Amino acid sequence: MMQSVDIAIVGGGMVGLALASAFKDTDLRIAVIESREPSSELDVLPDVRVSALSRSSETILRNLGAWQGIMQRRAAPYVAMEVWEQDSFARIEFEAQQLAQPDLGHIVENRVIQLALLEQVKQQSNVSLFMPAKCASMAIGESEAWLTLDNGQSLTAKLVVGADGANSWVRKQQDIPLTHWDYGHSAIVANVRTAEPHNRVARQTFTAQGPLAFLPLGEENLSSIVWSTEPNRAERLLSMSDSEFSKVLTAEFDNRLGLCEVVGERFAFPLKMRYARDFVTERVALVGDAAHTIHPLAGQGVNLGLLDAASLAQQVLEVWQQGEDFGTKRNLRGYERWRKAEAAKMIAAMQGFKDLFEGNNPAKKLIRGIGMKLAGQLPGAKDEIMKRALGLKGDLPKLAQRSGIKSQTH
Ligand SMILES: Cc1cc2nc3c(=O)[nH]c(=O)nc-3n(C[C@H](O)[C@H](O)[C@H](O)COP(=O)(O)OP(=O)(O)OC[C@H]3O[C@@H](n4cnc5c(N)ncnc54)[C@H](O)[C@@H]3O)c2cc1C
Repeated sequence: MMQSVDIAIVGGGMVGLALASAFKDTDLRIAVIESREPSSELDVLPDVRVSALSRSSETILRNLGAWQGIMQRRAAPYVAMEVWEQDSFARIEFEAQQLAQPDLGHIVENRVIQLALLEQVKQQSNVSLFMPAKCASMAIGESEAWLTLDNGQSLTAKLVVGADGANSWVRKQQDIPLTHWDYGHSAIVANVRTAEPHNRVARQTFTAQGPLAFLPLGEENLSSIVWSTEPNRAERLLSMSDSEFSKVLTAEFDNRLGLCEVVGERFAFPLKMRYARDFVTERVALVGDAAHTIHPLAGQGVNLGLLDAASLAQQVLEVWQQGEDFGTKRNLRGYERWRKAEAAKMIAAMQGFKDLFEGNNPAKKLIRGIGMKLAGQLPGAKDEIMKRALGLKGDLPKLAQRSGIKSQTH
């Protein structure tokens, strides 16, 4: 059977669902196609895939009505951040109090964010959820796109959104070229118990081999780690016994929280920068990891993605209210310019950080030390860095602003 919708979102991860939810007060007909149904049962031990949500992401999720569902499930606020370089005097600290903020963000399991959004989307009468289902084919016509799903269903849509992650099927179908490079790192993620409590401080050390972050979870001695290191070493670390791994980790983290004990599973993700050359083509738009992926060292990937979703929704609604076709490339150009610029800035910043902190070159070490000291002492510099990290700076969509967006019907 053929179903006609206004917007078909391929990928019901955090970003795709946020986009669907952004149309909650409209009468646009939305389809979400997601290949994997997330289990709603949370384990006692948190999932190892977590995100550090910025203030702007929190605002978006609040405006979408999903924040409560996140807090009810599991989320851990962090109130300070410590960054230092191994074997050097370079160190900087940020505190929420200094910025008159209650916290600097929240560490949340990706599945918790997805489940809270899913709960919202399921209440929307304008959303049809195809889950589990995968797209099998896509064809682009003059005024609409056709999708067939692997369960035999078909859809037509004025706009197809690729929210289907780093290896986006939609992006590949459209032959959108990708600028990409390998960061030369794999990131190991795991849950770790530490002898000392984390005191709700997010910590990251830069070693000559790459950054290692300890993100505080709800339990006071439990952290989620993101350990970026050269791929062969990551493989060796993964193949170690728990006790061997824990010993190496304790040393790598400068014993900062005492003895570490890895609990549960460990996974490694190869890290690649990806930047789609086009974020829009006729009848197609990309959001989130489908459009860009960056190094997790500043924990900004999904934060960027949620801003993409909020910005695309805003652009579509503006075009729609003018009675125009929101599926044309011309009418989506504003979204593309807006978000490509923001993603490019973030990619450049991540590369700059990675290059600056790589290796043991004494001159670079000196610059890093002076840089961190200056950032800590120059009036306003620390505030500026933190406001950027909190997502309070930059060209924000309305959904990321306190007032949110108003009900919109046509
Ligand atoms: C180690 C690591 C640590 C990270 N830490 C942070 C952090 O602290 N903060 C942060 O902001 N970001 C972080 N990120 C980045 C963040 O995880 C990603 O940016 C985020 O998951 C992207 O969300 P998404 O919804 O765009 O894509 P995904 O989460 O990949 O979701 C895509 C969805 O599409 C579905 N799908 C795929 N193909 C199809 C298809 N053909 N048909 C139907 N459905 C399909 C998938 O099942 C999936 O549910 C980290 C990344 C890594 C690797």
